Amino acid sequence: MSESSRLYGEAQRVLVGGVNSPVRAAIKPYPFFVKEGKGPYLFTVDGYRLIDYVLGYGPLILGHSPEPVVKQVMEHLGKGWLYGAPTEVEVALAKKIVVHFPSIKKVRFVNSGGEAVSAAIRLARGYTKRRKILKFEGCYHGAIDYVLVKAGSAAAHFGTPSSAGVPEDVAKLTLVAKYNDLDSVEGIMRNEGNDVAAIIVEPVMANYGVIPPREGFLKGLREIADKYGALLILDEVVTGYRLGLGGAQRYYGVSADITTLGKIIGGGFPVGAVGARDEIMELLSPKGPVFNAGTFNGHPISMVAGLATIEVLETTNAYDIAINASRRLAEGLNDILSRLGIDHVINWVPTMLQVFFTRGEVIDHETASKSNAKQYLKLHEELLKRGIFIAPSQFEAVFTSSSHTTEIIEETLRHMEDAAKVLKQV
Ligand code: PMP
Repeated sequence: MSESSRLYGEAQRVLVGGVNSPVRAAIKPYPFFVKEGKGPYLFTVDGYRLIDYVLGYGPLILGHSPEPVVKQVMEHLGKGWLYGAPTEVEVALAKKIVVHFPSIKKVRFVNSGGEAVSAAIRLARGYTKRRKILKFEGCYHGAIDYVLVKAGSAAAHFGTPSSAGVPEDVAKLTLVAKYNDLDSVEGIMRNEGNDVAAIIVEPVMANYGVIPPREGFLKGLREIADKYGALLILDEVVTGYRLGLGGAQRYYGVSADITTLGKIIGGGFPVGAVGARDEIMELLSPKGPVFNAGTFNGHPISMVAGLATIEVLETTNAYDIAINASRRLAEGLNDILSRLGIDHVINWVPTMLQVFFTRGEVIDHETASKSNAKQYLKLHEELLKRGIFIAPSQFEAVFTSSSHTTEIIEETLRHMEDAAKVLKQV
């Protein structure tokens, strides 16, 4: 019996499904347990080395344990790590965010992307004095009641896009439109717009595979939100610092009223952030009546790791490497699947991509759902056998980092070719 299998047996006795976040249980027949991460690699307790394209589900844009982050974290650990009082580093990280995101004038740090979204929605409701929010089918914004309605990610993978335990009275305040379809948004807003506090969207849908916004979609949302007096919340938990220093807002030239961040801004430690212009942010406690607080808010170690990560992104060619890696991977996989005559679509944005086994475009949850998710899982399995780790669910993204050098990508593509040949046979 392998060590992972033994540990999984033990885990199932004390952890629900043997894991602490559902997608981790999607690896069959059992999840591998990790001993260590270094650069592009994960090392398992069974002695395998995997090239990692999951990267902690997005945060590790520099790969595992990058030296500048390790150095800063180690240095700060020696000084204690929780004070219940402000620290200089949270100011420094907030200053970076304010520079990189012109729509943000003030920041509040919390502990996860979900918490950031929760704070953003409460702020939007407090600001507009309206009750409803509009989200998109397939978009995932965290494991919180307001948005677990027709959600993507593991919620979709495990067949619970609308979670049990979310009261009907809460769920009915969440309206759901179709991604990349402005008519569906306008249709809802025409009827209910004067009670909609915010439109919340992933500027690139990254939790139903990767689905980029069509030309004009985000700009259209901006206009519709303004027309009906609703706020536009861009959930940049994934895209923030992944599409570049200014996130999706700079990449697509669109501006949010409220932005949520997470993942990369904590350098792989728990974090979330909400940011907006002063008039909105100053409604938050202690200045205003919209409450938010947290024992771990602005945790010094997360702040240090996030700041160190962003400094590397600002001062080195890390983005170039990570972007080239994602581009080459998308092109290479496309060539392989085309040569083998396997129907597929690859959606790409800088540093992330996903393959769908389908014909035609993948532009929303509906077209994504038509793709052959079983074939994707088979690809995941065949790659894992060959030492390559992509997410065990069609409803996640393939991420690259600055540790994914040309050699790593070429090695990956050789294994992808072999894995794809097996797909061809089934
Ligand atoms: N928003 C988006 C777009 C996400 O992808 C996620 C998590 N993958 C979240 C919010 C929630 O973040 P967290 O898991 O840190 O709560």
